[in-house]
Amino acid sequence: MSRTDGTSRAAHGAASHCTDSAEVLARLRALRELDAPTHGGRILSYVYDPGLPELDRLAGQATELARPLNGLDPTAFPSIAVMERDLVAFARRALRGERRHGMRGGGRVVGSVTSGGTESCLLAAKTARDLWRSENPRLAARRRPRLLAPATAHPAFQKAARVLDLEWDPVPCEPDGSVRASEVIRRLGHDVALVVLSAPAYPSSALDPIAAVSRAAATQGIACHVDACFGGFALPWWPDLPDWDFRVPGVTSISADLHKFGYAPKGVSVLLHRGRARHRAQFFATTRWPGYPVVNPTLLGSRSASPVAAAWAITRRLGAEGYRDLTAACLRVARGIASEVAGIPGLAVQGRPSGPGLALVADESVPAADRVDPHLLADEVARLGFRMQLQPGLQQANGVRLPHSAHLTITPVIERALPEFSVALRRAADTVRGRPRPSVGAVLAAMRLLGYGEDGRVPGPSAAWTLLRLAGIGGRAPGGGAAGAEGGSALPDRVAPLMALIERLPAPVAEALLTELLARFGEP
Ligand SMILES: *Cc1c(COP(=O)(O)O)cnc(C)c1O
Repeated sequence: MSRTDGTSRAAHGAASHCTDSAEVLARLRALRELDAPTHGGRILSYVYDPGLPELDRLAGQATELARPLNGLDPTAFPSIAVMERDLVAFARRALRGERRHGMRGGGRVVGSVTSGGTESCLLAAKTARDLWRSENPRLAARRRPRLLAPATAHPAFQKAARVLDLEWDPVPCEPDGSVRASEVIRRLGHDVALVVLSAPAYPSSALDPIAAVSRAAATQGIACHVDACFGGFALPWWPDLPDWDFRVPGVTSISADLHKFGYAPKGVSVLLHRGRARHRAQFFATTRWPGYPVVNPTLLGSRSASPVAAAWAITRRLGAEGYRDLTAACLRVARGIASEVAGIPGLAVQGRPSGPGLALVADESVPAADRVDPHLLADEVARLGFRMQLQPGLQQANGVRLPHSAHLTITPVIERALPEFSVALRRAADTVRGRPRPSVGAVLAAMRLLGYGEDGRVPGPSAAWTLLRLAGIGGRAPGGGAAGAEGGSALPDRVAPLMALIERLPAPVAEALLTELLARFGEP
């Protein structure tokens, strides 16, 4: 969830017919004014700005050149096959998937270009499930296989488990965001179709214990996926890391997003497998209909070649050296922010980040009166022009609570904004130090009164909307815009209350509320 700065009728009013293209574009430009700034390092999540305008222009031109193509059939449009081949080769080098690049263990590393991280993760899980089923037919007839992953693994794997009928089995993590290898290894078993580890995990940039877990998985014949969607194109140039890629023999697949630290526009990622047979299990093919023979390496059918072309152009233009230099800038920014935070009483960096992200948490070692709440901090920093991403705390099944935090994705462009960001951070911390989190008692009481959260009862659309309004979320847009119950909701300019609520509500109720909030946001 992010915030909007109020929506005006001009931007949100009913879509009306435009008579010429210039007018249509003028309207689109006006709509774009509503968006968070995508360039310049003012938003510390969602966008990955290398700070190189030339790359933007190049991506735009490549996008336009490939616009008319359909990736459904690369034999009709071989340019797509060539670009995808080059992208897979580039990723394979970066992820050390060739012997001369450090690969250990058997099998040739091959893979596919996908539409994004979620698709790469879904396909990694689908491949593992199908292989597990064919290798364990007797067990498969009796039970759903497990998808085992630290609690910090990206929700794309919860989605995969739901869509693919796997049992999602989260391994509790430590309050610093790390997971103990022994905790994961303890839960390996014949019914595990896939164990997922992150390089690094998104919330706090913790690097999972990939060597130890994948070794144990390999001895039991269990597939091990490394989710490097976030860090796949930064970690190869990050200093002082243990091996986490195809140099580790037990790693069977890796996902890496080109639309994150590959600096490509959204819509492109890669999934690499160790061994052709594993890769082929990812495909869908059918001749059982009266139309054209269908062979899809990924989930989509017709698909855009534009993001592929943009990623291809950017990787060619930058080369490994370009990525090395951009990663060096990220590293300087990460160190700069960490040393700034070290000088702010009551605030701390969570755990030991390995890669271009970090999470800010309250320093629990000082008295409450001296602590800086990360969510109040984020809301205050937003008023000073920088947006961090609020992450609710998590109560785990074993009783260990992961703290709520503010996430920062570290991109090269932030280096220029660093002095200003440091001032904002310090100022905001001084403003909120000692303040408690927003109280959510009234909404919790209302929820109980209405009987939600018990026996899995969740509110429907109108009850969810009522609860949100009660929490002060989703009212009319400031200035009497077109928002409100009738068409498009407004989000408050402070996100901390919503996050405090999410954290305290039973998950199914919180999920129903968030669904309602986003659905109303896009409702005509
Ligand atoms: C972003 C991300 C994903 C999902 O990728 P999308 O491109 O948002 O679909 C998966 N895993 C990690 C670690 C990520 O950071």
